[in-house]
Amino acid sequence: MKVISKISELRTCIADYKRNGQSIGFVPTMGNLHKGHVSLVERSKKENNITTASIFVNPTQFGPNEDFNKYPRTLENDLKKLTAAGCDLVFTPDVNEMYPDGLNNIFVSENKKSTVLCGKFRPGHFSGVLTVVAKLLGLLEPDKSYFGLKDYQQYILIKDMAAILDLGTEIIGCPIIRESDGLAMSSRNNYLSGEQKSRALMLSKALLNMKKHFDSGNKNVTQLKSHGLNLLSQNVDVQYVEVVDPNYLTPVKEARHGDVITAACFCDNIRLIDNIIL
Ligand code: AMP
Repeated sequence: MKVISKISELRTCIADYKRNGQSIGFVPTMGNLHKGHVSLVERSKKENNITTASIFVNPTQFGPNEDFNKYPRTLENDLKKLTAAGCDLVFTPDVNEMYPDGLNNIFVSENKKSTVLCGKFRPGHFSGVLTVVAKLLGLLEPDKSYFGLKDYQQYILIKDMAAILDLGTEIIGCPIIRESDGLAMSSRNNYLSGEQKSRALMLSKALLNMKKHFDSGNKNVTQLKSHGLNLLSQNVDVQYVEVVDPNYLTPVKEARHGDVITAACFCDNIRLIDNIIL
């Protein structure tokens, strides 16, 4: 696996792949890789000649009181996992390489779907995400790019951006990979103590419980939400629980197949998100 941290070297490699007519799949990450990330690499391997990934903890998507400084950085282990998964190239730039002119000159922003759900509680977050993803897509020039549905709102915003700005890559959403107990895998799960983990687990349990009620015929969102909130509020601090249209991310009153139940909560100071598609 090629490990490249400089843009000039990356461009040479990508140009070689293109010249040889090889299709490129791309998996952007912030590192501290787990089976969720690896599943994206495996999917890309199946669908492309060349699979690329990036590891970059992007400062512009963290709020001033968020965990940028303590975000787990585990490069050596991550490289082993990517090698084992058969990744061909990983781009590992530092902040200067990505933002040589500083952090706040030009941003990609979206003003509608990025201001609801997580965006309401993390102002500027999606602008940071869209900006770094736009830049990475410009550098890696992938035919297909792979994102986890775990970050559902992020996936929709990136899909919109790629379509509206004609970025020339297909955005593919991949299923959430979970621990055997149901907890959605996340780099931030490393922060959880045993006791916190058992409370964090209530997030996926609450979503499943809501889906169970939906599956047995209850479409009333107020009632569905109260089923989820009952379980959640005893264990974590709920930021939001919503049932939304899968494309517009607008809240619905009557739940339909294909709508998304999405939630964010704090387990003490650790922020967790999860969702389930009805
Ligand atoms: P991150 O490193 O957290 O920025 O995530 C990089 C990519 O991995 C994003 O597209 C995430 O949605 C995806 N991802 C993170 N956790 C999971 C998971 N449990 N299952 C599937 N994809 C995931």
